[in-house]
Amino acid sequence: MAAADESLTLVWFRDDLRVRDHAALTAARADGRVIAAWIREARDDEGLGPRPLGGASRWWAHESLAVLHQELSELSIPLLFAAGEAAAIIPQLADRLGVDAVRWSRRYAPASRALDSQIKTALSNQGFTVHSHIGSLLVEPWTAAPQGGDHYKVFTPFWKAVSGREVGDVLPTPEPQTPLDPALLESARACSAVTDLDGLGLLEGTGSDSGDFAAAGGPRWWQNTIARHWSPGLRAAASQLEDLGAGIDGYSTTRDVPSDATSTSRLSPRLRFGELSPRQLLHAAQTTTSISADDRAAWIRQLYWREFSWHLTYHYPDIDYTPIRDEFRHFPYEDDDEALARWRSGTTGYPLIDAGMAQLWETGWMHNRVRMVTASFLTKNLLQHWWFGEQWFWDTLVDADEANNPVSWQWVAGSGADAAPYFRVFNPERQRERFDPDGAYIDDWLPYSTDASPTHIVDLADSRQAALGAYDRMKNMSAGAEPAGPESAGPESAGPEPAGQKSAED
Ligand code: FAD
Repeated sequence: MAAADESLTLVWFRDDLRVRDHAALTAARADGRVIAAWIREARDDEGLGPRPLGGASRWWAHESLAVLHQELSELSIPLLFAAGEAAAIIPQLADRLGVDAVRWSRRYAPASRALDSQIKTALSNQGFTVHSHIGSLLVEPWTAAPQGGDHYKVFTPFWKAVSGREVGDVLPTPEPQTPLDPALLESARACSAVTDLDGLGLLEGTGSDSGDFAAAGGPRWWQNTIARHWSPGLRAAASQLEDLGAGIDGYSTTRDVPSDATSTSRLSPRLRFGELSPRQLLHAAQTTTSISADDRAAWIRQLYWREFSWHLTYHYPDIDYTPIRDEFRHFPYEDDDEALARWRSGTTGYPLIDAGMAQLWETGWMHNRVRMVTASFLTKNLLQHWWFGEQWFWDTLVDADEANNPVSWQWVAGSGADAAPYFRVFNPERQRERFDPDGAYIDDWLPYSTDASPTHIVDLADSRQAALGAYDRMKNMSAGAEPAGPESAGPESAGPEPAGQKSAED
């Protein structure tokens, strides 16, 4: 062991806040000793790097990192925190620490991949060995392609092609190492970007005292609300996984029932932050004997929907603001701040919508069925651009994910690769009768009493017709029409143009 201890590796943690089934960490420990780092990344001038975390995710990251720090210190592995541009920080740290190698788990969003490859080149030029590992997916996007194409656009063929693949065994937590010389760490801490966990400022600005948050519910702080519903960190994640059998009991039949606390696993933030790997989830599902064959099959299939989202995200670089189906650039969305504010604040007058938005606001999570219905309502009945819903979810979900969030929004809005047919406009009243027949979900989450219900924001039948009319207008748009797209407005802009109308009149 002494000889192996001579080698020193910097393991850069990103969306993999765990010590078990962590290939980069395991390989680094096999080589010798380890120093870990996590960076609150700022996107560079070229827009490279991960999408900046939303408010609820910042809270989760802060809490989860505190647990990771503790877990790593039990292995005598120090975890350094830094804030800024990773392209500058990682080479600087590697240099100061005099490491032999740098390792990380691969990420798949194009802007992050481009950054990682830039950093890899810089490190290699400085003489460091760099290794990247699979860590947050079962199927890396470039390993699956249909005949005659470079990627899948439809889930079922993707699923058939990849679901039987061998994914290997779950890796154990590495053994503790001999502690490092404190002087070494002092030299790293002298880097101006290095700070402590609080210094990352993840909890700053996660209050709701301004902007959309105030409009949605008045001042309050995320950590005071969401914290009542979740325990971030790999330890709580591990015990949640141990209870998977109970967590998804009846999944194949009840997973669409939002009130049933046991109907879905609620493991999504664990996957988002990598407190658990998808391989751990797959193994747990396959080996937990109390899970019925039907529940197991149905749940594992959903794990592959997440894989498919990443497959698409890898192949469509601007998926968070560019429709996959090009004709949707011409969709005549409306620009109605008041409608958007009522949707966000759960005051549309439709109980299922309003209960869902309240659940999201209070817990940072919403049941999948209700996500679909609220997203359909915003994009179809209210004719608001899916960007706005996607951005609200990005800011308020604890599982806000660079792949699942935009892909799901595009799926519901009709602009996605494998999207629901446009005429599928969810009727929130019928959905409520079907999936919440005893009103338990509404009882739990509706933010007002039914006799004080706000007036209906739109008539369901009229607004459905208006949505279908808008869809027809989009289809009839002349080929030369000027697209309303992010090139002109951009996801950060105040709002999309009334897309395509100008061209339609031309
Ligand atoms: P379970 O039903 O227990 O499923 C287990 C895991 O499978 C989930 O944790 C998730 O990783 C994956 N999964 C389940 N359903 C889906 C699905 N439909 N698509 C892709 N993966 C799935 N999921 C996110 O993780 N992050 C998001 O930002 C996100 N945004 C969404 C936005 C909209 C508009 C919609 C309709 C769905 C969104 N989803 C998102 C997908 C889905 O709603 C959540 O993954 C699910 O509700 C998480 O709950 P769970 O862990 O209990 O899921």
